[in-house]
Amino acid sequence: MIHYRKVQLRKGKEESLRRFHPWVFSGAIDKIEKGIGDGVIVRVESHTGEFLAIGHYQEGSIAVRVLSFSDVAIDDVFWFSRLKSALDMRQAIGIADNPNNNTYRLVHGEGDNLPGLVIDIYGKTAVMQAHSIGMHLCRKEIARVLAVVMQSRISTIYYKSETTLPYLEEKEMNCFLLGVNEDNIAIENGLKFRVDWLRGQKTGFFVDQRENRSLLEHYAKGKRVLNMFCYTGGFSFYAMRGGAELVHSVDSSAKAIELTKDNVELNFPGDPRHEAFCEDAFKFLEGIGRESHDDGSKDGSGKTTAYNLIILDPPAFAKHRGALHNALKGYTRLNQKAFEKIEKGGILFTFSCSQVVTKDHFRNAVFTAAALAKRKVRILHQLHQPADHPINIYHPEGEYLKGLVLYVE
Ligand code: SAH
Repeated sequence: MIHYRKVQLRKGKEESLRRFHPWVFSGAIDKIEKGIGDGVIVRVESHTGEFLAIGHYQEGSIAVRVLSFSDVAIDDVFWFSRLKSALDMRQAIGIADNPNNNTYRLVHGEGDNLPGLVIDIYGKTAVMQAHSIGMHLCRKEIARVLAVVMQSRISTIYYKSETTLPYLEEKEMNCFLLGVNEDNIAIENGLKFRVDWLRGQKTGFFVDQRENRSLLEHYAKGKRVLNMFCYTGGFSFYAMRGGAELVHSVDSSAKAIELTKDNVELNFPGDPRHEAFCEDAFKFLEGIGRESHDDGSKDGSGKTTAYNLIILDPPAFAKHRGALHNALKGYTRLNQKAFEKIEKGGILFTFSCSQVVTKDHFRNAVFTAAALAKRKVRILHQLHQPADHPINIYHPEGEYLKGLVLYVE
């Protein structure tokens, strides 16, 4: 049995671990054995010395991220069983090994009992991202075992943690751990996407909107669509395939607009229905004119484009609890603008991916926005993250993506 250094909790602080919550907060700790530093694997014990969990230690508010509630060694056998269980689940629900969709999340941190680790699959490439120093230190071991678990499904593993662990300032935070592959076209529900895993945001693509994009496709026929915060254009191509009359994609990042344009050429070469704009969201929304007001008046802004299907998928407005209040104000302001501008009988897909913003917070912010814009609004769907981004039932914080589909009279 491997001897891991000990972290001992204060009296009464073992309760959340007994309910399998995968984090130990720094305030719960009484004693830390000498030699424990960032990324070290530790054994967590109660104040009486009873075994509770094995996990990665890291200085900060979340001091231990639990890898196992059993007294096991964190070795190849451990990584194999966790990664295999992640793959088994994706196979059981038909997400893995689907030729029409080779883009999916294989490991979703706490949701797959691997806190601090994300692995996305793009065709034959796995993009692996560490969110904790412990996972960073284990990256080579994990990559080696991942290749065994995935067999011929993957030929390349790219490690991409420069942005998630910026303070490490080590070399090789972004590098290939297996093979080299520059052929980066992934397929999501039959649509092609050039995924820039070398320089792109997250692991290169937002895998978590797959099902919500599919839903949008069903509502797109004949619609004038505005895809706000488009990044690589995901929602836009589903709208085009769904028969939209026109699709405008907007993002403030020039790189995102470049990727969107590339993806239009991959899927709908030369299609005049699509246009991309590199502009700030609020500025763009401000410039839209509405054709139909309740009293029949026109906007007079001179802009002719009016939209009856709008997507708002902004970046997380709150990255931590302290930012919650301002974030909610931000969601209200953004949604209010969209409610003011959307045509009568329009449909709004609106999202929040901030972990600290709950479903109720978000719904309340959107409710306030509707009231301020004085529009009649009905909720058609309440959306969330897809099944390949599972939520560990003992870790409700894992529910981060929420969305509403609204019918605006
Ligand atoms: N909807 C996308 C993901 C959006 S990620 C998808 O389906 O893939 C959020 C995007 O918002 C990023 O691409 C970022 O560049 C963009 N963004 C951030 N602030 C912005 C702003 N003020 N105006 C417009 N776009 C912005």
